[in-house]
Amino acid sequence: MLVLVDLDDTLCNTWEAGKRTLVRFLFFLFRKRKFRAILYFLAGRYKRFERAKHVHVLDLDSIVEVVMRDIYPNISEEELREITSNVEETFFKFLKLYPDAIPFLSGVRKLGATVVLITDSSTEWQRKKIRVLGIEDYFDDVIISGETGHSKLDDYNFQLALRRFPSDEIYAVGDRDDTDMRGGKSIGAITILVRRGYFKSRKVEFADYVVKDLFEALEVIRSEHKKRAET
Ligand SMILES: [Mg+2]
Repeated sequence: MLVLVDLDDTLCNTWEAGKRTLVRFLFFLFRKRKFRAILYFLAGRYKRFERAKHVHVLDLDSIVEVVMRDIYPNISEEELREITSNVEETFFKFLKLYPDAIPFLSGVRKLGATVVLITDSSTEWQRKKIRVLGIEDYFDDVIISGETGHSKLDDYNFQLALRRFPSDEIYAVGDRDDTDMRGGKSIGAITILVRRGYFKSRKVEFADYVVKDLFEALEVIRSEHKKRAET
């Protein structure tokens, strides 16, 4: 039994921490009189980077850098460094595990599952999150797009997990349909979408189950696992 789990907005509150960081960041920009940047964020213009593959392998400070350069092509290195270190510090202060994350991870381990974390973004940033959240020991493997060079917009990292841990009983758990669920489907997983975070109200196409939290996801896995054992 193989369980593939996503990190951001599935195990931890990345979008919420990001939003709180953004609010702080707006005050920071205001103090710096960067009004064009404030308008850019308030208008949600960063959304155009959502489907940009290269952005999926970046971390938050690099994304801020991409966006700030988009708004101010001539911004100085010094100013960028000040902004990105401010963003990183604030973000990690707000980043927390969801209360159902540990019960879920220990629950699937108790069922005898091999647990693989598949996550987009850079190595440094994702490894730092895992360390800060204290969840290293729950995973048999961690696959990060920044390390493989493939984001979850393609199937590569899901195929890789299956090659490393062959199984005919696979579950994929995540918050995003067009990456976590679609990737899970590509290797024959039962896909469980957790409705929270940034992608909460998006259209669902690839999920077998839609649940409100990881307690429900664990129940789905338990009952599917039991059904298999009985047949
Ligand atoms: Mg996610």
